Amino acid sequence: MPGTDKGNTPWPVPIWDADTVRLMSQDLGEGVFAVVADTADVQTTEGVPQATSGGFVVGGEAVMVIESMMTPGLARQVLDLVAATTGKPIRYVGVTSDHGDHFFGNYLMPEDARIIQHENAARGIAETGIEPRKKAQMGWFDVGKGIEEVEYRPADLLVGEGGRLVVDLGGHVVEVLDLGQGQTPGDLWYWDPKAKAAFAGNAFICERPAIPWLLDGVAEKPAQTLRKIHDWLPDDARIVPGHGRVTDKNGMLFFIEYLETLVAHTRSAVEQGLTLDQTKAEFPMPEFDAGYPLFNWLHFDVNIPCAYNEAAAAAASRRSGT
Ligand SMILES: [Zn+2]
Repeated sequence: MPGTDKGNTPWPVPIWDADTVRLMSQDLGEGVFAVVADTADVQTTEGVPQATSGGFVVGGEAVMVIESMMTPGLARQVLDLVAATTGKPIRYVGVTSDHGDHFFGNYLMPEDARIIQHENAARGIAETGIEPRKKAQMGWFDVGKGIEEVEYRPADLLVGEGGRLVVDLGGHVVEVLDLGQGQTPGDLWYWDPKAKAAFAGNAFICERPAIPWLLDGVAEKPAQTLRKIHDWLPDDARIVPGHGRVTDKNGMLFFIEYLETLVAHTRSAVEQGLTLDQTKAEFPMPEFDAGYPLFNWLHFDVNIPCAYNEAAAAAASRRSGT
């Protein structure tokens, strides 16, 4: 079929099936709700890839939705969950990255709602246009799921590097934070200080056994960023990950320790003069192969090459004194 990579993919398409996803809301207190697939509670720790997680925050006067989701069907499920909870209007829609499964549903959000995104994410989408991104998502999530219908609706409020935007929903604030690159250069976290709830997006996909998807060519920054965020979060914070059930900061540790171990091993491999293939053979990291079906593909074909190339480039620039 046109526009898909079906047949050449190392993963089964769709990674998760938007047609069968049923989203539900989970009350985190203080007017904050997570929105997660009804399978997430059981399947996250089994390693089954889950639909995008998000949520909404109900303030005194208005509502903020976090993540508009990938397909019209999923976006409408979010709108229905909000409507079942409150009659207050949605005035803000926050998205966490430039990944289509987090923002494609923007165009179905209320017209007078303001869309929030990182300026690097908005710039990235403007540069590529929406159609290649729809095609790419169909490669992961298949055709005929509604991605074809998506119309691009750009963000209204942009947050820059190191930026912080405080949104007041009527006696209830949500902080929109650039805390550094976790996966993409345009990651935003949404932090509700009252409920102590954080919405992470793909910077933190979910707890064990999932591992990071280092598709943006950097490993060290995500390792540092996620460790910093982990240390900053209070012990009783709830974290809504990019894909999976709600967890706490301990739930981030497997993901972070994988990154830190990967960075340490690939650095030492470069120092020892190992080739990429030797590095793969030397560092299979079986202690992190804990039942995630995408582990082999991600670890050997995506993450080791990413971290190795980054370490090799850093070593080369040190040698040339630049
Ligand atoms: Zn995602």
